[in-house]
Amino acid sequence: MLAKAPKQLPTPNSDFYNFAEALNGDERAILQKVRTFMESKVTPIINKYWVEDAFPFEVLPAFKELNIGGLGYEGHGCAGGSQLLVGLVGIEMARVDVSIATFFGVHSHLAMGSIALDGSEEQKQKWLPPMARLEKIGCFGLTEPLVGSGTGGGLTTTAKREGDTWVLNGQKRWIGNAPWCDVSIIWARDLDDNQVKGFIVENKTTPGFSVEKMQNKIALKVVQNGQITLKDVRVPEANRLQGGNSFRDTARVLRGTRYYVGWEATGCQMGAYEHALKYAQERLQFGKPIGSFQMIQDLLAKMLANIVACQCMVVRTARLADEGKLTDQQAALSKAFTTAKARETVSWARELLGGNGIIADYNVGRFFADAEALYSYEGTYQMQNLIVGKAITGFSAFI
Ligand SMILES: Cc1cc2nc3c(=O)[nH]c(=O)nc-3n(C[C@H](O)[C@H](O)[C@H](O)COP(=O)(O)OP(=O)(O)OC[C@H]3O[C@@H](n4cnc5c(N)ncnc54)[C@H](O)[C@@H]3O)c2cc1C
Repeated sequence: MLAKAPKQLPTPNSDFYNFAEALNGDERAILQKVRTFMESKVTPIINKYWVEDAFPFEVLPAFKELNIGGLGYEGHGCAGGSQLLVGLVGIEMARVDVSIATFFGVHSHLAMGSIALDGSEEQKQKWLPPMARLEKIGCFGLTEPLVGSGTGGGLTTTAKREGDTWVLNGQKRWIGNAPWCDVSIIWARDLDDNQVKGFIVENKTTPGFSVEKMQNKIALKVVQNGQITLKDVRVPEANRLQGGNSFRDTARVLRGTRYYVGWEATGCQMGAYEHALKYAQERLQFGKPIGSFQMIQDLLAKMLANIVACQCMVVRTARLADEGKLTDQQAALSKAFTTAKARETVSWARELLGGNGIIADYNVGRFFADAEALYSYEGTYQMQNLIVGKAITGFSAFI
C-alpha cells in the first residue's frame, strides 16, 4: 500500500473576509507590488536589523520603485489613490514589519501630509515632488522632552519672527526618521501671538539644528528616533507652512495619521496571527501539531475575530475619509480600539509560540514589542478616549 500523502494544510490568510477585493484592479496591483516588496526584500533581513537597532537602508532603492510616496494625495508628484488603498498599503507593510510602515507613515503621511494640507501652492510645488520620489525624506517634530500628550496645550519650542526670518529654539523628542532624514517639519509656538506654527527645516544644512539618536528602545527598534535640539535656528518666512496658523491645523494632519495607525495596528495583528498559525501547523507536541489542540484553535479564532473587527472599523474610516467626513473622534476611536486589540492579539500569538515567542528569530516577538509603540504614539490610548469621551458626553475631561 502507498504511504498516505501529507495532508495539505490551509495557507495562513488574515484577510478572512477578503477586504482587499474591495479595491479596483489598478489599486490591487499596487497592493500586490507592496506585498511582493515586503515579502521578498524586508522579510529576509528585518529581524537582524530589529535586533541591531538599525534601519535597513539597503531596501530603499526597491522601496523607491514602488512609487507610493504621497499615497492618498493628488498632484505635485504624489501617488494619489483611494483611502482604502492608503490603509491597505499600511496593513501590507505592518503585516511584515511595523517599523517599515512607521517609516513610511512618518515620511509620507506626517511630513508630506503637513505640506499637502498646510502648505502654500509654492511650498507644495517645491517640496512634494522630491519627497514623493523619496529623494528627500521627512520627519515630523511635535513631541518634546517635557510635553507629550499636552502638545495642544503648550509647546515650549518657540518661534520668534525677525523680519523675513523666524528664529526657532527648543527641543523635540521621539522624532521618527530624524537622525538621518533631510526635511523636518517643526511645530513651534509663536512668541508674538502664542499660536502653534509649522516650519519646514532643511535640517542637514541649517546651523543650530542637531539630532541625537535615541538609544535602547524595546519597540519599533528599526525606526530611528531622534532628540532634536534647535538653537537659534533661522528659517525663512518662505518655509513657514502658510496654512498652519494654530494647533487646529496641526490636528488636521494628525486626524489622518491617527487613523493610519489603526491600519498599522490591524496589520501588526495580521502578521502576528499568520506567523502564529503557521507555527501551530508545524510545531509538534505529544506527537501532534499544536494547531490540532482545541485550546490553541480557540486562541487562533480569538485572534482572527480581533483582526476582522479592526478591519471592519478601519475600512469604514477609509470610506468616511474618502467622502471628507472622517471626524477627529472617529479617527481617535479607531486608533484606540485597534491598538488595544493589537496588544491582546499579539500577546495571544506570543503565548501560542511558548518560549519561542520571546525570541526575535520567530518574528512574533517583534510584533509583540512593536504593538506597545502603536498603543502610545500619535496620541496615547487615554488621549484618544478622552477625545471620544468629550464628543459623546459634551464634557471635556482632559484636565
Ligand atoms: C516609537 C515612537 C515614535 C514616535 N514618533 C514621533 C514622531 O515622529 N513625532 C512626534 O512628534 N512624536 C512622536 N512620538 C511621540 C508620541 O506621540 C508620544 O510618546 C505620545 O504622544 C505620548 O506622549 P508621552 O510619551 O510624552 O507621554 P505622556 O504625555 O507623558 O503620558 C504619560 C501617561 O499619562 C497619560 N496621560 C497624559 N495626560 C493625561 C490626561 N489628561 N488624562 C489621562 N491620562 C493622561 C498618558 O495617556 C500616558 O499613559 C513617538 C513616540 C514613540 C513611542
